Amino acid sequence: MSKHIIDDAKRCLQCKNPLCTKGCPVATPIKESISLLLDSRIPEAGEMLLANNPLSLVCSHVCPQENQCEGHCVLGKKGSPVHISAIEEYISDYYLNIYKPKKSNNSRGRVAIIGSGPAGLTIAFYLAQRDYDVTIFEQNDQVGGILRYGIPEFRLPKSVIDRFTERLYEMGVKIKPNATIGANLTVDDLFRDDFKAVFIGTGVWRPSKINIKGESLGHVHYAIEYLRNPSVYNLGKRVAIIGAGNVAMDVARTVFRHDAEEVYILCNKGESTITARPHEVEYAKIDGARFEFYKSAVEFVDGGVMVADTEVTVDEDGYETVTPIPGTENLFNADSVIIAISQGPRAVIVSSSKGIDVDDVGLVKTDESGRTSREGVFASGDVVTGAKTVVEAVRIAKNVANAIDEYIQTEYGEGAKQEGKEALDT
Ligand SMILES: Cc1cc2nc3c(=O)[nH]c(=O)nc-3n(C[C@H](O)[C@H](O)[C@H](O)COP(=O)(O)OP(=O)(O)OC[C@H]3O[C@@H](n4cnc5c(N)ncnc54)[C@H](O)[C@@H]3O)c2cc1C
Ligand code: SF4
Repeated sequence: MSKHIIDDAKRCLQCKNPLCTKGCPVATPIKESISLLLDSRIPEAGEMLLANNPLSLVCSHVCPQENQCEGHCVLGKKGSPVHISAIEEYISDYYLNIYKPKKSNNSRGRVAIIGSGPAGLTIAFYLAQRDYDVTIFEQNDQVGGILRYGIPEFRLPKSVIDRFTERLYEMGVKIKPNATIGANLTVDDLFRDDFKAVFIGTGVWRPSKINIKGESLGHVHYAIEYLRNPSVYNLGKRVAIIGAGNVAMDVARTVFRHDAEEVYILCNKGESTITARPHEVEYAKIDGARFEFYKSAVEFVDGGVMVADTEVTVDEDGYETVTPIPGTENLFNADSVIIAISQGPRAVIVSSSKGIDVDDVGLVKTDESGRTSREGVFASGDVVTGAKTVVEAVRIAKNVANAIDEYIQTEYGEGAKQEGKEALDT
């Protein structure tokens, strides 16, 4: 075990009222798992973490810990907080290798999971544990959603998702890759084939357009599409990125690892409005990214992008307006430009299936337990909340798994009710 992990675990004060757990969206039993670790009981610590959060290992790599568990550690008030994520990673990594899941006996009915991002994976895990016959339909050739096709390898090794997938197979979960629900098979087909409930966890994969001239040119790309498979792009040496959120930082750092020599991040406002996590910005800067503030793209042209200086005004309600200043337009030279401003949901499922209500931007409407307007159809994750975080997707998916279980037992399973309750209570 790395010495710094032991040292950090020993720094934990074992607070009576642990603020770290309160700061974690899934209330991870941090002090209990640290105590077990120091007591040479790693498998028990791992079991505890996995039962609470099937994606514990993923979260230890990608959570914004500075605002969550570590941001709440009392030691952080006067010095550095316990490095909780490193300890969680150590325990969960160990445990994911030795974990021998119970195989579902498939006795409690079929459940269809559409989408294999954090939301779908969490629900598949909990429902297979409760003996449902779970099938994941995934439009890509491998599972993981953004974990595999968005977050770069240097932040989250793909082997983490591969190992989790292996455990799902051992639990009896069936995975149908290259299966886009809505393009061929529909939600109606799933109900026809005796799936008792359908879960939609399809995320937000439609890149937002800037809607300016030249956006379709060959050197202009969207971040979410680029990150799917960076090695198939020939971006050249000088790359401009539009946007300053976490996705833009992932693009900047990825581009540097694929031949680019100069990377510029163009922001239409000032430095204080960067939405990316501060340490992601630091990493991007260390890699060599340079920031250009108060620059707004006004047209994509051969050789780069025309940008204008901007003026930012704030009205009395605090609402900001960004206006390009006429006459300041200049060519910003770039071999390629990548747009990283935001993503929205695609409409492929709701357009092919009746009765699933969406809001004005296409996000699926649900109650707090993930029930959509169509009976037996549930949804959660980014397709409901808009772009959020992995741990948020897990948090809500835990409730939705309970709601699906309860729905199926109420509608179909008299005999299984007690068994279901026991599973819910553990
Ligand atoms: C580049 C990037 C970096 C990020 N970094 C972080 C981070 O560091 N930390 C963090 O906490 N969060 C991060 N996030 C956000 C986080 O990844 C998401 O909030 C989370 O993945 C949402 O999970 P989900 O299950 O709702 O959707 P997704 O992960 O988007 O998964 C949806 C899945 O559904 C599949 N699908 C879509 N339509 C269909 C269909 N019709 N049929 C079958 N399958 C379908 C998709 O292929 C995909 O596999 C990042 C997001 C991006 C874009
Ligand atoms: S799940 Fe995330 S926020 Fe919670 S303890 Fe783990 S790393 Fe921290």
